[in-house]
Amino acid sequence: MFCVECGAEGPTYQGLCARDFLKKHPVVAPPEVLDIERCTSCGSFRLKSGWSKIDRELALTGLLRETIPRLAPWERVTFTHVAREEDASNLSLTVKALGRFEDLQSVQDFRVRVRIKPSLCDSCQKQRGRYFEGVLQVRGDGRELTPQEVRGVRTFVIARVDRAGDPAAFISRIEEVHGGLDFYLSKNALGKALARELSESLGGIVSSSPKLFGQKQGREVYRVTSLVRLGPFHIGDVVRYKESLAEVTSVRPFVILRDLSTGESRRFKPKDVRSAKRVDAERFEARIEHLESGQIVAVHPDSEEARPVRPPPKDRTAHAVVVWTQDGAYLSLLPAETSKP
Ligand SMILES: [Zn+2]
Ligand SMILES: [Zn+2]
Repeated sequence: MFCVECGAEGPTYQGLCARDFLKKHPVVAPPEVLDIERCTSCGSFRLKSGWSKIDRELALTGLLRETIPRLAPWERVTFTHVAREEDASNLSLTVKALGRFEDLQSVQDFRVRVRIKPSLCDSCQKQRGRYFEGVLQVRGDGRELTPQEVRGVRTFVIARVDRAGDPAAFISRIEEVHGGLDFYLSKNALGKALARELSESLGGIVSSSPKLFGQKQGREVYRVTSLVRLGPFHIGDVVRYKESLAEVTSVRPFVILRDLSTGESRRFKPKDVRSAKRVDAERFEARIEHLESGQIVAVHPDSEEARPVRPPPKDRTAHAVVVWTQDGAYLSLLPAETSKP
């Protein structure tokens, strides 16, 4: 037999001598990069057959076998590799692919980068629904949370945990308890951080109580319950405190009440103004009219009802933000869109 390529005499494979056959037929066409998912919780790898708890070398062999197809006419291809860690999630693999055809063997060397993608296997995902370490409790200070607060806090916490993008930090479950919310969290630190952030943005007092829960790998495990008591008010609330009607202009670290009749502000410790009662009020920009009688009135934008403004505006402004209650109209220091959360 003669090789059709070079004319050499001897055994041929599909018309070629062994040398030309090997030259013409690579064993595989390797990609530059391969991805494999690894469970951040238990270390399982995801192969086509599913999640399996195998070591990295076996997982890599499986990955090469199932993602790099043999090229015809090679009949059986086996891979061996040496992995070098570039960092925790990137490996550089030096691979030998051994192909067989009739009595021929060919070894092809190549390099491929393997990216290990953090993920969560099915069973860990299920466990996640039950597992928790820290608890975040959100309550009102001497009161129940309003439905708006419950919604606001829930959204705040979920968005914050999502944004962090840490697969080990998650919410196992959320329970609405009488007058408040409980979040069961994968980490104590997460509960503490959320408590602090909630109190900073909504005004509240934070406390925490660790409880010994058990042992994990010889280490004592604590469950920390972080409690936020949201202050009695929000910025923009209108309250009656003692004899005066006031708007809340700050909630932390002190509650600042601005007396609507006099325009004077006073600051209080949150616990000192617990007895203040919220009053139904609207806040909007109103037309201000100077009547011939000398009286200055605010006009409700919807009802056109006019009410004397207290205290009277100093300049001849035509528009002002007012607080409108059942018994009067008052100049406000806050922007019109300051609504109750
Ligand atoms: Zn030849
Ligand atoms: Zn897992």
